Amino acid sequence: MMVFIETLGCSRNQVDSEIMLGKLVAAGHQRVDDPAKARVIIVNTCGFISTAADEAVDVILEMARFKEEGDCQKLVATGCLAQRYKDDPGLLASLPEVDAFLGTAACDQIVDVVEDRQPTPLTLFPDPNQRGFQDLAIDRELISNGFAYIKVSEGCNRHCTYCIIPKLRGTQRSRPLADIITEAASLVKKGVKEIILTAENTTDYGQDLVADPIGFDNVLSSLAKKLAIQDKNVWIRFLYTHPKTLGAGIIKTVQSHDNLCSYYDVPVQHAASTMLKRMGRPYTREDLIDLFKLIRELDPEASLRTTLIVGFPGETKEEFEILKDFIHQVRFDHLGVFTYSDSDDLKSHGFKDHVPEEIAEERHDILMAAQAKISEQVNERHVGKIYPVFVEENPEQGVYIGRTQFQAPEVDGMTFIYSEGLEIGTIVHVRITDAYEYDIAGEIA
Ligand code: SF4
Repeated sequence: MMVFIETLGCSRNQVDSEIMLGKLVAAGHQRVDDPAKARVIIVNTCGFISTAADEAVDVILEMARFKEEGDCQKLVATGCLAQRYKDDPGLLASLPEVDAFLGTAACDQIVDVVEDRQPTPLTLFPDPNQRGFQDLAIDRELISNGFAYIKVSEGCNRHCTYCIIPKLRGTQRSRPLADIITEAASLVKKGVKEIILTAENTTDYGQDLVADPIGFDNVLSSLAKKLAIQDKNVWIRFLYTHPKTLGAGIIKTVQSHDNLCSYYDVPVQHAASTMLKRMGRPYTREDLIDLFKLIRELDPEASLRTTLIVGFPGETKEEFEILKDFIHQVRFDHLGVFTYSDSDDLKSHGFKDHVPEEIAEERHDILMAAQAKISEQVNERHVGKIYPVFVEENPEQGVYIGRTQFQAPEVDGMTFIYSEGLEIGTIVHVRITDAYEYDIAGEIA
């Protein structure tokens, strides 16, 4: 059957889509890029925050049109929106176009669903904690080109008061290290040049694999070393490290291997210690200042990324001022800001002094405006230097777009290369000549 999949949300969800596609292709079905030609359409949804949930419903309704205007005979909704609202008959009933709702742990049953071995309408919500790890015998069908995400663990053991993910994905389960190494090798054989390790908290990896909770960060370090040595031409990047478990051991490992990207994605969410406490984040402003100082001492080439939430219940002007000062003090290379997204299934919903949306938006804009200036100044430091750049696109004659080790895909700025005759998917050395708010540009060195 012709199958089309639309993936929403985060890198973990993209891996789930690739796993489902891999199973379907292994079962003889064909992946198509045009939903109008698909007999089965799968929407792998995100439901993390209300705007993501709204987007997921819009995309489902958009895809449902192909039941009238295309070849679609079955519409399947998988992922976090389905899981989050599994007990909400209102939402599921409001989408009669959907033939099957599959929760986050039901990906493995996608072939049965597509091949009508399960009667529809169907809802499948196995316990997220029962979800097994990826079957390495079946290759994933990659959605991105040249780089690939590897999920090192499922779920999360933390309890941030604004977050629903532990309910949607279960407690943390780390994949066996050998499985990750094996998968990385098979991805590299497929021509992947960059492997991006992802999880809810990548640096919590291994907590459940070792008896000695103190030494668990050695697990991630040894994983990183093994991946770095396995193929020195392949870049290895971590996303979603946690400030509490990103330690000197991992930083030194990264610093000592050229193909481990000196790229530290550390979502801190806020910087006012009183606010961090209400968010359920187990660190203080001082801890964060010390951490970013440590990273820069141990890895002077470090590039820092973070994400912040503004407008969390009770956020005072003073707490916001602390956050503003903090980004001026740390000077992140890359920074994303979200406004708090309320929902009655969150612990934070019950907190008092919810911040009006317009105030939250105003604070979002103030931080983004400040960061735009910081980002341009930070980018200036690259001018005159030469970096390896992974060539990804050729939008027009004489212009290529790529990324350096300090630019992650899909979230950070890019590198423009003015040249002719470059090959997409290769790594070239570029002398940076110009710096902009988010992007940089250069010529072949
Ligand atoms: S660490 Fe916090 S924000 Fe991240 S997935 Fe876990 S509970 Fe959610």
